[in-house]
Amino acid sequence: MPVFRKRQMRIERKTPEQIEKMRRAGAVVANTLELLREAAKPGVTTADLDSIAERSIRAAGAIPSFKGYHGFPASICASVNDVVVHGIPDETPLRDGDIISIDCGAILDGWHGDSAVTVPIGTVRPEVLELSRVCEQSMWAGIEAAVAGGRLTDISHAVEKSIRANPLPGGAKYGIVEDYGGHGIGTEMHQDPHVLNYGPGGRGPRLEVGVCLAIEPMVTLGKPDTYTLPDEWTVKTTAGGHAAHWEHSIAITENGPVVLTRP
Ligand code: MG
Ligand code: MG
Repeated sequence: MPVFRKRQMRIERKTPEQIEKMRRAGAVVANTLELLREAAKPGVTTADLDSIAERSIRAAGAIPSFKGYHGFPASICASVNDVVVHGIPDETPLRDGDIISIDCGAILDGWHGDSAVTVPIGTVRPEVLELSRVCEQSMWAGIEAAVAGGRLTDISHAVEKSIRANPLPGGAKYGIVEDYGGHGIGTEMHQDPHVLNYGPGGRGPRLEVGVCLAIEPMVTLGKPDTYTLPDEWTVKTTAGGHAAHWEHSIAITENGPVVLTRP
């Protein structure tokens, strides 16, 4: 889940032992997302995916962190097509040509993992597949910039630069969602700092060994402005363009960034 908030920052540094615990929580999330990626097909509902996720997380001895988070009713966010983030799983079947962003979080032994993937359903228009690719690539660029000695917004700038390296036909640009961003993660899903997905580098607090972050760009076809449905969760693009969302939780170590949400 992405988050947006403003207040004074308090950035935790985790010990190697704590990072190992976060890696275990992250593996639960990654294994669950693998199951969901395989299950997401035409005719399958997002409620079906939610059931698979909850079973997978609980079978690993973990707790779905989204369920009950500020009242969120499910274990995953299922965001289809023009839904950017925070989509609530329901009985609507996925259709050929859809894309779905699946965001998943788990708590194991008190430590959180948080990760999201965008999955094509059946045969998807090339420009929509490309949107997802550009978004994923920008997440990896952000992760690579998460190195000790750098500054927080080096990550933000790397994400934006990666997206901007992919111009659209006719001089159009991908939308970079500004209303939501990444975050610190640890014994809570959302900790300081907020991680913007755009802007100049070289600003904000210095990145240090032990800092753990969720890096999660959201990219749109068309303008990136969003609005929230009356359900108070579902975030859509105002212009109706498709959106992609990719996320990993990472730790900054002496040997560079380490992805925590991997199988
Ligand atoms: Mg997430
Ligand atoms: Mg998140």
